[in-house]
Amino acid sequence: MTASETFTEAGRDFIRDIVVADLAAKRHTHVVTRFPPEPNGYLHIGHAKSIALNFGIAEEFGGRCHLRFDDTNPTKEEQEYIDAIKRDVRWLGYDWGKHLYHASDYFEQLYQWAECLIRDAKAYVDDQSQDEIRANRGTLTEPGNNSPFRDRSVAENLDLFRRMRAGEFPNGARVLRAKIDMAAGNINLRDPVLYRILNAPHPRTGTKWLIYPSYDFAHGQSDAIEGVTHSICTLEFEDHRPLYDWFLENLPAPSRPRQYEFARLNMTYTLLSKRVLTELVRGGHVAGWDDPRMPTIAGLRRRGVPPAAIRDFVKRIGVAKANSVVDAAMFEHSVREVLNRTALRRMAVLRPLKIVLENYPQGQSEELEAVNHPDQQAAGTRRIRFGRELYIERDDFMEHPPKKFFRLAPGAEVRLRYAYFITCRDVVKNPTGEPIELRCTYDPATKGGNAPDGRKVKATMHWVSAAVLSDAKLELALAADDLADPVQFERQGYFVRDVDSRPGRPVFNRTVGLRDTWAKVSAGG
Ligand code: ATP
Ligand code: MG
Repeated sequence: MTASETFTEAGRDFIRDIVVADLAAKRHTHVVTRFPPEPNGYLHIGHAKSIALNFGIAEEFGGRCHLRFDDTNPTKEEQEYIDAIKRDVRWLGYDWGKHLYHASDYFEQLYQWAECLIRDAKAYVDDQSQDEIRANRGTLTEPGNNSPFRDRSVAENLDLFRRMRAGEFPNGARVLRAKIDMAAGNINLRDPVLYRILNAPHPRTGTKWLIYPSYDFAHGQSDAIEGVTHSICTLEFEDHRPLYDWFLENLPAPSRPRQYEFARLNMTYTLLSKRVLTELVRGGHVAGWDDPRMPTIAGLRRRGVPPAAIRDFVKRIGVAKANSVVDAAMFEHSVREVLNRTALRRMAVLRPLKIVLENYPQGQSEELEAVNHPDQQAAGTRRIRFGRELYIERDDFMEHPPKKFFRLAPGAEVRLRYAYFITCRDVVKNPTGEPIELRCTYDPATKGGNAPDGRKVKATMHWVSAAVLSDAKLELALAADDLADPVQFERQGYFVRDVDSRPGRPVFNRTVGLRDTWAKVSAGG
């Protein structure tokens, strides 16, 4: 991907250029796009790119975007997926208004159009098995063979097709094919299948249909019925475009949409294939479609990724014509950008090491004030408890520190955020020599984090009071708050309370760490 393709000027890309040209030339007076998911799984971040493109274009040009379920394969499709897809598109911030459609809304019309093709001698019923059809299709270098059933009469084809609809034949016994050209260079034009027999209940049409249209036969015609002007899809459909056009040219379609293809989103370390994601769920390798480790929209939401971050990311990657792979660090960068602005700050110790302040009075404690967001006064402050026993991060202490380690070490002084300077006096170890407790002193004159004598420390560390909860090393605010939004655990990253949390047993998902590798990469590192 070249820089100009990636970071397009003011969000312009080749598809938007086409739309602008079409409007200028008055080929269309308004723009209609659609997002056409097949309800056979949950949406993932790749779909977000397509959603943002289709809904974004409609929004920018004062048009509309339809949500259309491409529900032509009842053996793989489920109501759960339909509901999840709607929830996810809305959550991403897009609205199809009253324009919710299903390819199944058009089954009767599509059927009638199939009969049109038969009457025009442009479609025939083929009795060959699936394997025979495949074997006779030819290869990229060799033409296919005509089916022995290709020259059936119109009357016979009509009769057989109607009996297919009536359920007279078992699954797979026959198909309806377009009669185009078995020698076409483009294999999609070698008499593609239009209808197959499938005795399976459909989530919306129930048992009404025993034959179902293919994706190719349903898609362009659905676009035409809805008055879609720009039918935007991913590059793997480029070779289907001649077929898309063939149907529209050979049928009395009510409008003439055009298909445009763009490069799908691929991302490092990230699986964006519904088939593979389905396997992870079915095989029990993850907790479900919304497992926070999944690249699904539902998983990202549970992980704490805000919708604004996803929108920002897909805007940054732009829309190109050539396939490429986006660095996952770029996605994390967008997540950090949004959360840095919005997430409240909290302190939490992930790998605790106990500290005892020897000069802090036994049985006493105090409350200190901590700001909720460094740049947003309106976010206010909170009280945090400080006492004789605290926890710090294990990694913030080294018994034998190398030269550039400025955090806690024997004899070293550091600042505890919002609290005091402390100095490490002694290390208590377990029998294997591991530090299990640090005996420290604090300087009461440094309350709030500054020394009146002006002396400096090189590190400011997060901490929590040991008196919080028996085993959770979180500041009290975190145990008590019912924060649905992610918070920043200072110096660690962004975390969000998981739905599996129970009173007294909070569970947090790490949305993203603080370290921004993308910023480094993009700065030319
Ligand atoms: P399958 O892998 O089962 O074909 P799909 O991921 O293509 O599924 P669809 O439900 O057909 O799923 O996708 C809906 C729309 O989202 C299509 O227009 C498709 O081109 C687009 N889309 C799917 N994956 C990506 C991706 N990684 N990047 C951009 N757009 C995508
Ligand atoms: Mg698809």
